[in-house]
Amino acid sequence: MALQLVCASANPGKVAEIEQLMPQGVSLLPRPTSVADVVEDASTLVGNARLKARAIVNATGCPALADDTGLFVDALDGLPGVRTARYAGEKATDADNKAKLLAALENSTARTCRFITAVVVLWPNGDEVVVEGVCEGSIALREKGNSGFGFDALFIPAAGNGRTFAEMQAEEKNAMSHRGKAFVELAKVLTNRVGQ
Ligand code: IMP
Repeated sequence: MALQLVCASANPGKVAEIEQLMPQGVSLLPRPTSVADVVEDASTLVGNARLKARAIVNATGCPALADDTGLFVDALDGLPGVRTARYAGEKATDADNKAKLLAALENSTARTCRFITAVVVLWPNGDEVVVEGVCEGSIALREKGNSGFGFDALFIPAAGNGRTFAEMQAEEKNAMSHRGKAFVELAKVLTNRVGQ
């Protein structure tokens, strides 16, 4: 049985990357341009992913896939968490967010944290699959590396031999990242569904 999912992301590059991780029989479509951005005001990553998936289901009548990621820093009681993209304000750039995080941890030796990605697949009948991927790590004292996006230059994954995500090739990052792990887990769950 084939399964086509409409993604909450309108970014064709991101959608193609996710599709490569999906099992045979699962295909993805980017978010139709007619569907507007959703206000992500839930208190959890799963809640925000569910809001995005629900908006796609309502607009298209098709099963939908949405993900949401946050960075949870222990010394900041889990901040920025669900507000990671908007940590330094509604219109914050990656540079603003990184600067705010470094300032918040100034002089702190406790720098452990984790990235968590939640993925929700929602069917029009209300059926739902929820998976999560976690990548443990710590916040560097200063930015290192030039690749990636977001907090990559500050995030040192526990499995990365002291390098930040921004010092890794995409393939190496994806093999240990929160998002990579979440989609590998999703692929396992969907394999059972399309096999039915
Ligand atoms: P989103 O839910 O995928 O949009 O992620 C929310 C925010 O988390 C992004 O705006 C980034 O700042 C940050 N983020 C998510 N994934 C990563 C990553 O793999 N590396 C660095 N930052 C990330």
